[in-house]
Amino acid sequence: MYKAKAYSAGSATSPLASTSIARRDPNEHDVQIEILFCGICHSDLHSVRNEWSEFMATHYPIVPGHEIVGRVSKVGSAVSKYKPGDLVAVGCMVDADCTCPNCKAGLEQFCPNVTFTFNSPDKHKTAPVTYGGYSDSIVVDEHFVLRVPPNLNLAGAAPLLCAGITTYSPMRHQGIAAGKKVGIIGLGGLGHMGVKFARAFGAHVVVFTTSPGKAEDALRLGAHEVVVSRNAAEMKPHTGSFDFILDTVSGNHDINPYLALLRLDGNLTLVGAPSKPLEVAAFNLIIGRRSISGSSIGGIAETQEMLDVCGKHNITSDVEIIPIQKVNEAYERLLKSDVKYRFAIDMASLKSE
Ligand code: NAP
Ligand code: ZN
Repeated sequence: MYKAKAYSAGSATSPLASTSIARRDPNEHDVQIEILFCGICHSDLHSVRNEWSEFMATHYPIVPGHEIVGRVSKVGSAVSKYKPGDLVAVGCMVDADCTCPNCKAGLEQFCPNVTFTFNSPDKHKTAPVTYGGYSDSIVVDEHFVLRVPPNLNLAGAAPLLCAGITTYSPMRHQGIAAGKKVGIIGLGGLGHMGVKFARAFGAHVVVFTTSPGKAEDALRLGAHEVVVSRNAAEMKPHTGSFDFILDTVSGNHDINPYLALLRLDGNLTLVGAPSKPLEVAAFNLIIGRRSISGSSIGGIAETQEMLDVCGKHNITSDVEIIPIQKVNEAYERLLKSDVKYRFAIDMASLKSE
């Protein structure tokens, strides 16, 4: 074991602060990574503040962060895919049983024994739970390490590991392509990646936002139309017209006005994970045989596919780079929907701690 620098929170009401954590020495299948950038996902904030206590209670101290890019510093003797110096990435998972039907189907995120990058029981027993990417290094089994296309800006590539795959995967699953009308609710970290992918897949893209000030950006990011969702008169003309709507909203909100915008057999997929249950009016589904579903990140193979597509089309996240010392301020701004459109922590800033 060795000590790594990190930022952790000691309770749901404590700020994140500098600490040191135990990491395992790489075993034969492990890759040790020097972390260069880590994105700030709203899930980090939900977890730090224990907002998902009913589904996955937070174990403290928590070291969040699952949008990790870095450079390989060491590899175990059996590692075949990576060597020291390679640019790599780690997303939301660091382990799974790799034998269950979901793992065999390339859907490790639905493995009953999945280990998430932070706040999951640590099967290596280095610590009670896994510690995430707000740290200067991490050690991960090579199966859960991704390759970063060399042309991508590294800070902008970090959010692809969660915001990117979480929006890419459901759109692939729903067959989004030219001729489809796609709505994206919420222009935050996930939402702005959803816009970029929907546009790249050739769809007609409409952004629903509660922030009228984001309209110009939405069009620049690739939307064809922008609707201020609190304005019923702007919503109405879209009734019954969408093939697919992706809901990326982090806060509690009413999904019924959006269900009414779906066409026959249209689908609304939830990726946003507000803390409270949602209410659904039965007739909003019955009429038009509409459906609601959910989606969680994406499997390892699909995450690599997404990164390669991003490399080919030079797609990255729009990031505001911050030093780790500004992380608590960044959380407050995230709550005000005041980020364009993802914070990426420059992990070099951790060296001075
Ligand atoms: P984010 O950057 O904070 O963006 C969320 C956006 O939702 C905001 O920018 C805002 O957009 C809108 N919004 C926030 N509160 C709202 C409210 N009360 N009513 C209406 N709109 C509201 O967050 P994120 O990092 O993209 O994450 C979004 C959600 O996805 C979080 O709940 C996160 O935990 C979840 N998530 C899920 C997965 C998964 O695998 N399913 C993966 C990652 C994240 P406008 O200003 O445009 O209205
Ligand atoms: Zn995330």
